[in-house]
Amino acid sequence: MSATTALADKYPEGHKYSNNFLKEIEEQVEMGDWVKMCMQCGVCSGSCPTNFQSAWEHPPQELFMMIRAGKREEVLTSSSMWNCTSCYNCIVRCPRKIPITHIMHGIAEYAHRIGLAPKMQATRFFSGLFWKNCTQTGRVNELKLSLGLYFKDGFASGIKEGLKMKDIAIGMVLAKRLNPFELFGGHKCKDQKGIQAMLKKAYEIEHARKAAKMAG
Ligand code: SF4
Ligand code: SF4
Repeated sequence: MSATTALADKYPEGHKYSNNFLKEIEEQVEMGDWVKMCMQCGVCSGSCPTNFQSAWEHPPQELFMMIRAGKREEVLTSSSMWNCTSCYNCIVRCPRKIPITHIMHGIAEYAHRIGLAPKMQATRFFSGLFWKNCTQTGRVNELKLSLGLYFKDGFASGIKEGLKMKDIAIGMVLAKRLNPFELFGGHKCKDQKGIQAMLKKAYEIEHARKAAKMAG
């Protein structure tokens, strides 16, 4: 059974709004059971550096209020959780000691898991790219990572973006921080099989844990 089907069975109320949304967050999101403790003082939002960027749709206090109001679709498709930089200002200042940072990442992970996260949101895209890059060989290939990022919107825009950064790229090559030959292989971890086996086991444990949450 797919995650979306299991979810529709478990929370049949609909997608846009749901009276059960707080319960869903409590059950599915790591540390989501803290959301109900929020007293809407707004200290977290006032302390959040990304709140002052235009890309930030909803700061934490607003997201928590929307969860309680059942605005399921608006919360889960939002890019806000993905803008969290894990600076921990909010946690330090929250009078209720709510683990806001962890909840923000938990909501992002849940939205990703059920396919509602914005597909080309920059942080989400970079996370996927970085994970794929470093888990292939156990070491990050900086050149492939940079190229993947620059060419994410297609060839023409990749060339355009790359040209903008050419002076920095040349400087990095001269300083031996970027090796053009990394494109044809690159450095690897000594025990790649060991890394793959470890990841396989971790995936199994994680999938089992999430399937149990969906079914539970
Ligand atoms: S600081 Fe804490 S209690 Fe205040 S709005 Fe933010 S999460 Fe809620
Ligand atoms: S940890 Fe995230 S949500 Fe909290 S203040 Fe920093 S950027 Fe904002």
